[in-house]
Formats: sequence, structure tokens, C-alpha cells
Amino acid sequence: MSHSTVAKLHALVDEYEALARSLRENHNNFVECACDLEEIEADDELAAVDSAFKETLKEEQTLLVNAATLRDIAEDTIATNTTSIDVYEQQCKERLAMALRRCGHEFSRSEPYKDFRQKIWEVKHPDQIMPPLSTAAYNDEEEEEDDDIIEMAQHVSLICPLTTMIMEDPVTSASCKHSFSKRAIVEYIQRYQGSERAPCPVTGCSRMIVESDLVRNRWLERKILRESEMREQRVRVDSEHAY
Ligand SMILES: [Zn+2]
Repeated sequence: MSHSTVAKLHALVDEYEALARSLRENHNNFVECACDLEEIEADDELAAVDSAFKETLKEEQTLLVNAATLRDIAEDTIATNTTSIDVYEQQCKERLAMALRRCGHEFSRSEPYKDFRQKIWEVKHPDQIMPPLSTAAYNDEEEEEDDDIIEMAQHVSLICPLTTMIMEDPVTSASCKHSFSKRAIVEYIQRYQGSERAPCPVTGCSRMIVESDLVRNRWLERKILRESEMREQRVRVDSEHAY
């Protein structure tokens, strides 16, 4: 496994770094846009650009941390001939927390953000020194985001309405956006009067489902995978505690 695994890991590292770079190349657009908004005193819009810029900075930080983690995993793979990719998410989380601790959890200490605010300040106060930035934390927002994700997870069912079990190879009907295990829905359609279409089996949905309208749902795939990883981790932790 090692050679192709390592090559793939390196390809991912390159991709993450390229993404981080393209985000960084976009900083100027944020600055220009924000300065224009400041000029016409569009405060609400400026606040929106400000939080979008913070998101970008956070995203960059995350990409770089992920890249560094992957690079280390690749090196480990070469050294030990086993891959520890299963600890990837955990390691990324820990390293990101560490990186954020280093910069004090605050955007006010982030150079690109300070630069951004400085340029906005200069629009209206070209000859005054900018007062210190209020401390907007990286972290508080992160927690909010986590809450959003949890909330979203509660609203999205990973259960196939046909098998009543966690979906396998989830596919989504393009017409009504209902999702199913691929095999279950294909068999269901084929059983229905031997035709290529059948009414959606979800109660209350009156759309027809056509086999060619079924789209592989990678987002659900990832969610299901993550969910099962979390379950495994819980089991592992529980069994460790039992001994
Ligand atoms: Zn439906």
C-alpha cells in the first residue's frame, strides 16, 4: 500500500496548499470591496464582508493545518510502512486548536486581518492612528458553527426510508430530493409494474422517481462515514474504560 498511499497523501497536501493559496490571493478583493462599502457607509454590508473575510482566514488556517497533518502522516507511512490516516481528523482538530491558541484565539492578532481593518480605517481617517481592534475570537464563532452542524445533523436523516437502516451508497432523487440506499430504491422501482419509474415511497411525497434521476450523494456518504467513525471511536473509548 505504502507507495501509492504516500503519493495520494502528497497529492492531497498539494491540493490543500493550492486552495489555501488561492484564498490568500483573494484577500485583496475583500479589502477593496470593504473599502468601497466604507466609503458609502454601507455598514451592514461591510459587516457581512468582514465576517466573510474572517471565515476565509479561518478556512486558510484549517487548510494549512490539514496539509501539515497529512504531510506528517505521509512521512510516518514511509517510516513505519503503516498508515495512521485514521487519526487524521483528531490530529487536525488538535493542531488547529493549538494554532489558534498560538495566535491568542483572536483575529486582532492576525496580520492579514489587522491589515484589512487598517485599510478600511484609512478610508475615513487618512491621518489618524487606528485604535486597537476589539477582540473578536476565532473560537466563539467556531463553537457556533459546531452547533449549526449538530443542528443540521439532527435534521438530516441518514436512514433509508425503504430499508429503515443507515443508507448504503446513498442516492438522491433529482426531482424530490429524497434519498435512499441505491440498491433498495433501484429494486423498488424495478418491482413497480416492471417500469422504469415509480411513485416516491416517502409518505406524503407525490413525485415520481425515475432511475436515471438518481444522483450519487457524496455529502451523505461523508456524513455516514463520519457518523460511523464517531460511533467506532465511542465504542473504542468505552471498551478502553471497561478494562
Ligand atoms: Zn420523494
